Amino acid sequence: MKILIVNAGSSSLKYQVIDMEGEQVLAKGVVERINIEGSQLKHTKGKDKYEIKQPIKDHVEATQLVLATLQDETMGVIKSVDEIGAVGHRVLHGGTEFSESVVINDQVKAAIRKCIPLGPLHNPANLMGIEACEKVMPTTPQIAVFDTAFHQTMPAKAYMYGVPKKYHDELGVRRYGVHGTSHRYVSKRVCEYLGIPQEGTRVIICHLGNGSSLSACMDGKCVDTSMGLTPLEGLLMGTRCGSCDPAVVQFIANNENMTPDQVLDMMNKKSGLLGISGTSSDMRDVDAAADAGDENAILARDMLVYGIQKYIGSYAAAMGGVDMIVFTAGIGENNGKLRERVMANFEYLGAKLDVAKNAACADGKATECIVSTDDSKVKILVIPTNEEIMIARDTLELVSK
Ligand code: ADP
Repeated sequence: MKILIVNAGSSSLKYQVIDMEGEQVLAKGVVERINIEGSQLKHTKGKDKYEIKQPIKDHVEATQLVLATLQDETMGVIKSVDEIGAVGHRVLHGGTEFSESVVINDQVKAAIRKCIPLGPLHNPANLMGIEACEKVMPTTPQIAVFDTAFHQTMPAKAYMYGVPKKYHDELGVRRYGVHGTSHRYVSKRVCEYLGIPQEGTRVIICHLGNGSSLSACMDGKCVDTSMGLTPLEGLLMGTRCGSCDPAVVQFIANNENMTPDQVLDMMNKKSGLLGISGTSSDMRDVDAAADAGDENAILARDMLVYGIQKYIGSYAAAMGGVDMIVFTAGIGENNGKLRERVMANFEYLGAKLDVAKNAACADGKATECIVSTDDSKVKILVIPTNEEIMIARDTLELVSK
């Protein structure tokens, strides 16, 4: 079966077509700047890359263009839309309603709509993507895969905040976590790779990308994660500040004559690596500036490394030890030097990095590999994430039922 994976943002729509026989990606691409001047579709089939520039006024037009491209004689990979057996949608927030992927119906859409206050940027866009596909391919089953679902196994002591309980009971204020599909993929894949069962394992996963989060997983189930009610909590990220005293919001708002919304916008979009380094939100630029001696870039990098170290330490404590520490996503997979900096502090835990092996697995050459020494009690690994294949597998499973 061929499955279409859709990840709709407010002005973008990313897609992949995966042939589930052999789990092969046939084509992928992104529609950018939907309803903004300069709309375009970037499409890749094998090694061939194509660009189509034309006005695209909404997600329905974007979906139509994607399907036309997929059926095109040169760029395409299908002869007719009927070849697409199902569509798997990435949905950011499923609140407490969804701990698993589901077939989309009116109730599911209503539940995704109910979660809009928890994912105000992503959930409306995800719904637009779903409704566009329903319109353009009305008989094809649609499946929702939630970024929050994997974290639903966290115990209350890990997901509750210390504000009066009524805010949890009445408003749903709690830790939800994000990147769940990546954490689920990596936590499963690392055990397959090592040829061991998930039962009895304690794994810390460091998903370090533009957005970053760590999770602690026991027996393959999430017991804690660093992102919270929203993706703002946790590590210093590309443009997000990560955890800080909540009073900072009021303090800056009062002193700068800003509203809380404006402060939060600044914390989401102008902080993190960008806000501290003043150079860039991209770790490659921050590294280059830091290596050239820029003090602010050095500080940003030090803050990121220190933050990861503190989470690893606390998750090892939370689980009574750790068996595997796994790095994934853009920075985790490619930045060997950062992994070396992070792991410098953990010989006390029995985690010893093999510096040469670690250095070899970097800079776009990342493959699945063990980067700890043979005698390291804790295995340190790099496992490239693959959220799309996880979405495709869930989709296939649900439509095969
Ligand atoms: P997103 O969260 O947007 O999916 P990614 O997982 O692609 O982001 O991660 C983006 C980060 O990964 C950037 O900070 C970038 O510096 C880093 N990165 C991506 N590719 C490489 C590479 N080949 N070498 C070093 N760093 C990389």
